[in-house]
Amino acid sequence: MRGLVYGGPGTRSWTEIPDPAIQDPRDVIIQVDAVTICGTDLHILGGDVPEVEPGRVLGHEAVGTVVETGSGVGGLATGDRVLASCISACGICRYCREGAYGQCLGGGGWILGHLVDGVQSEFARIPFADLSTYRLPDRVSNESAVLLADILPTSYEVGVLNGRVRPGDTVVIVGAGPIGLAAVVTARLYSPAHIIVIDKATSRLQAAKMFGADTTVLAGLDEPLETVRSLTGGLGADVVIEAVGTPQTFELCTTLVRPGGRVANVGVHGKPATLHLEDLWIRNVTITTGLVDTYSTPKLLDMLVAGQLDLGHMVTHRFGFEEFMTAYDVFADPTHSGALKVLVHR
Ligand code: NAD
Ligand code: ZN
Repeated sequence: MRGLVYGGPGTRSWTEIPDPAIQDPRDVIIQVDAVTICGTDLHILGGDVPEVEPGRVLGHEAVGTVVETGSGVGGLATGDRVLASCISACGICRYCREGAYGQCLGGGGWILGHLVDGVQSEFARIPFADLSTYRLPDRVSNESAVLLADILPTSYEVGVLNGRVRPGDTVVIVGAGPIGLAAVVTARLYSPAHIIVIDKATSRLQAAKMFGADTTVLAGLDEPLETVRSLTGGLGADVVIEAVGTPQTFELCTTLVRPGGRVANVGVHGKPATLHLEDLWIRNVTITTGLVDTYSTPKLLDMLVAGQLDLGHMVTHRFGFEEFMTAYDVFADPTHSGALKVLVHR
């Protein structure tokens, strides 16, 4: 079969590799039907994630069909169409029992396309399949379902639920990439009064409006603090979600939040950000952060089936497997391509 293989910083190839095989009774093998590329894959390619070794098949967002099941798999059969979650976890360790799958102590956690081969290939091994895959109803498309592998649970759990978005809230989302836009979609489930999105790219702000933001702010040009204050009687936002991952945007979030409000950090930070405790303590600001656990995936799937998640327009480009290298080029250059999520399918 063929797969997208990391060759060391700056190098990737769509190349012939051995078919995956069951290695543990809890594994399944899927035929990959649809798969996406994530910003994390670009971080890995940039050499920012040294644990990922050359030779690794990348990718952690896929929908596929089960073609083989390990002897210990109880809930899946050959032919099942499944969503493979970005977090693959044992389900029985102390963290998994609390739904903190990302911290799994039993050999799982954030491993697909990281510590074990991922899903950007024609077939893939999914460890701990009973817990890490979800059977898909016929009426859910591959294209919508694959967005529930990572960006939806990430924005929902680490952004909207950690930030405790409530009806009537003013929610600010800094960063309108796929994660920030998915935060718009999932914040709307809680009927906030305002969703204000800040980004430095006008195309991303247009997308934010399409997904349901009522106000957008162009970073570097508009004045975010004035906009937020004018909509909140001078107080600031109830919830601010950080979806970029830079010290500047994190600090911006802490200035936009109202006394007693919440800042939910989702962005992955490569550099330390300054935490102004001298200001935040007296304003009773709550700050949360975290890695996605995907405990919310079954609920998100129910909402998708019920038509409550508006995910149209998230996939902007579609390619066949043989065009995987082009798909990466398009995803890596959103300024020119206008890409949000790029889908590669059979
Ligand atoms: P992305 O790069 O596609 O989007 C980031 C957006 O931020 C872009 O639209 C960009 O224009 C904007 N931006 C950059 N600098 C800005 C600035 N100074 N002011 C305003 N906007 C600015 O990334 P994404 O895929 O949407 O992911 C967002 C973040 O979430 C990343 O840091 C990613 O690593 C992180 N992430 C976290 C988790 C988790 O479990 N916590 C999971 C997945 C991704
Ligand atoms: Zn575990």
